Amino acid sequence: MKALVLDAEWNPQPQYDLSDHERESQRASNSSKVWQEPTLHLEDRDRPEPGEDEVLVRVRYAGVCGSDVSMAGSDDEGYTHYSAYTRFPTVIGHEFSGEVVETGDNCSLFELGDPVTAEVTDYCGRCHMCRQGFHGHCENFEQLGFTIDGAFAEYVTVPEKILWDVSSLANQFKDEDRMYKAAATIEPSTISYYGLFKRADGILPGDYYVFHGIGPIGLTGMNVSRAAGAGKVIAFEPSDPRREIAHKLGFEHVYNPLETDPAAKVDDVTGGEGADVHVETSGAVNATYSVMEDSLSERANVVHISNAASAPEVDLRKYQAASAQIYGTEGHTGQRVYPRTIRMMAAGQLDNLPIVTSTFSLDNAVEAVEQAAKRVDGKVLIEM
Ligand SMILES: [Zn+2]
Ligand SMILES: [Zn+2]
Repeated sequence: MKALVLDAEWNPQPQYDLSDHERESQRASNSSKVWQEPTLHLEDRDRPEPGEDEVLVRVRYAGVCGSDVSMAGSDDEGYTHYSAYTRFPTVIGHEFSGEVVETGDNCSLFELGDPVTAEVTDYCGRCHMCRQGFHGHCENFEQLGFTIDGAFAEYVTVPEKILWDVSSLANQFKDEDRMYKAAATIEPSTISYYGLFKRADGILPGDYYVFHGIGPIGLTGMNVSRAAGAGKVIAFEPSDPRREIAHKLGFEHVYNPLETDPAAKVDDVTGGEGADVHVETSGAVNATYSVMEDSLSERANVVHISNAASAPEVDLRKYQAASAQIYGTEGHTGQRVYPRTIRMMAAGQLDNLPIVTSTFSLDNAVEAVEQAAKRVDGKVLIEM
């Protein structure tokens, strides 16, 4: 089968404190200090065999994530931009849909032909974090498309316990192709769902939201918050094409933060009440936090989703005065997040298809990652 493989050279920086576990497992915790000269190439591989607790999925669509772009990119010294966990060479790709074509001996939850999508983190279920219910922070985790082979390939093996059936989408999307396309956008949607409704505390229907930055995570997040009954959804985004996509999705309050005073705009749109929910999805935290602090409603929730390297100055007094709080959030594992995101999509409340702006064949998967790196698309998909 064909697969898009990311390879790089294991070359830990001398000042990086490499742990014994990293050395033994050849899995970097901070990839940007360890992996040099990342390259992408298409490879012919044997079709993988599912282990006894795994399901073999024939991939239909897979989305290119900002993480894929950042893994393939490098700094002046050739080190990958991506700062979290990876092991290379690995087939990348972790936002996908497909159909079940084979099941391992211990598997019983899926039938051949079932349409599915998957969570990213394979957790052990036995470590200290897992035993407390924090599966997303498992001490022995593997991640599809990061530390183990992912979905930019004709087939992928997935642990049965992180696979979810999406046949409930068939009614809403009628033709199968549209259904599989939509299902490939479930994973990015769950990132916001988890941050807004599992991490933050007490977000209510009717709340006013501001999304700071609307790449794929911000755009799917806007859809999730509208489906959850947002009073108004405001967005700030410097890219013209991305603002255009948000307008096409039916959002009215979408502005270029470089051409307006964002805090004054929030004040204006919310009638002086400020925003109840601020979502940081831009990574440009040195610009966005001061805007948030000047437009917090009473009891505002700030949901920090982006993976920003820089540390903004935070004016604590403003949070104190507004009884506001900042919630850090990462990932989406467990806690009812996947089934509910799928239900919203099946109910017709979460339609991400207009966010998909480019589709490439697997033969052109390298170009797909390059296209996503231009940061003008909603979502770039690869069709297998
Ligand atoms: Zn992703
Ligand atoms: Zn664990």
